[in-house]
Parts: sequence; structure tokens; C-alpha cells
Amino acid sequence: MNITVWNEGRHEKSIPRVTQLYPGGLHAVIASFLKPVAEGSLIRTATLDEPECGLTQDVLDSTDVLLWWGHMAHDEVPDEIVERVYTRVMQGMGLIVLHSGHLSKIFCRLMGTTCRLRWRDDTYERMFCVMPSHPIAQGVPEHFELGVEETYAEFFDIPQPDELIFTSWFDSGETFRSGCTWHRGYGKIFYFQPGHETNPSFNHPTIQKIIQNACRWAAPVNTRQDFSCPQMVPSLEEIRASK
Ligand code: ZN
Repeated sequence: MNITVWNEGRHEKSIPRVTQLYPGGLHAVIASFLKPVAEGSLIRTATLDEPECGLTQDVLDSTDVLLWWGHMAHDEVPDEIVERVYTRVMQGMGLIVLHSGHLSKIFCRLMGTTCRLRWRDDTYERMFCVMPSHPIAQGVPEHFELGVEETYAEFFDIPQPDELIFTSWFDSGETFRSGCTWHRGYGKIFYFQPGHETNPSFNHPTIQKIIQNACRWAAPVNTRQDFSCPQMVPSLEEIRASK
């Protein structure tokens, strides 16, 4: 399984705490804890300021699962790149959208809604697993203490998830659908809420386990390259109405 971790990579350039928590940037840390998932395969990183955002056609064509972290520069991702990612999801590439990626162009395109939510600065988060039978929940406790995180709160304007796997409670009194899946075309999408750049959630062992599980789940099962609509398909049976 080839994994590409895409990170906007801008906060790392201006907020020292981000690189203190995540040496080399969010993408480097996420890529490093995904190594056990993709043994013998490629784990690459890509950032906004690389040519073509690091997401050339070759990179995307050889990516089975793409992870996406963005926040302050969603609009700087060219539409052409968004279209490339969208097409690859339709073809079967898995997409894992992390934290503030909820407002990325690609996530909004795939959801078809505003993807807006309510938020406030740090409170204390407890996460609940509400679908323990799901592969992404494998080895994850019924609930666990995440600690300090940015509060994301309902209403989160997303289509009804195909599967709701995690919900979260914050000690501000808010709740949130924090782990959701959808299927689009041949591709699978997982949105996961933790991961504000100045909080240590990506160093939390259970968060790492969930993202590892999500990569395994989102890997393509079947793929399809051609989505053009044929004018007419041959019938599988003799059509009685034509006699
Ligand atoms: Zn944030």
C-alpha cells in the first residue's frame, strides 16, 4: 500500500510550537507512525509549497491512500490539483481528511455541503467509539481521554455519514461527530477531527492506531479508470419487448 501524506506546511514556518511538537512538520510525524502500515511500500510526503503541491499525476497515480491536513491556505490549492485528487478518489484511492481539512476544497467538493462547524479554542476532549465492529475501530477502547484539543462542535454541515465511528465530548459541553466515513465512486473517505497544529494529538498512541487502521480500511478494493458513459450497453438477456 502506497501512502502519501499531504500537509499544507505553513504553520510550521511561523509557529515554533508546531515543530517542537512535530519535528520536521505534521507530515513527517504522521508519515513516521504510518510505517508499520506500509511495510515494503512507499510512504511519501507532499506540501503546498512544492511544485504542483507535491501532487503530480505520477504521485497520485501511485498513491493508494492520501492523507490531507490543511488549514490557513485551502484556497491556494489550485483547482486543477483538486480535480486530480477528486478523479483519483472516484477511481478508488482512499482519502483521509484530518482536523481542519474539513474546509479543504477537496473535502467540500466530495461532500457537496459547506462542511462548516462551530469551534472554540482548547478544551478537554473525550472520544467515544460508537461503531466497535468497524475495521477503523480495531483495538480502540470504548472511550478514551484525548486531552487538550481544539473544540469542534455541531452542527457540522456534512452529508449523513455512511458510518459514524467516533463521537467526541468536550468539557465546554459540546459534542461532535469526530470520525465519519463516506464512499464516493470507487473510493473511501474518512474524516477524523483531532489534530490541531499546536496540540499533541498526533503523538497520542490511540490516535495513531486509528489513523493506521483508517489507512488499511481506505486502501482500494477495486479500481476503475474509465468513468465515461457509454452511449448504450449490450443487453445481458434477450429483451422480450423488442420481439
Ligand atoms: Zn485547528
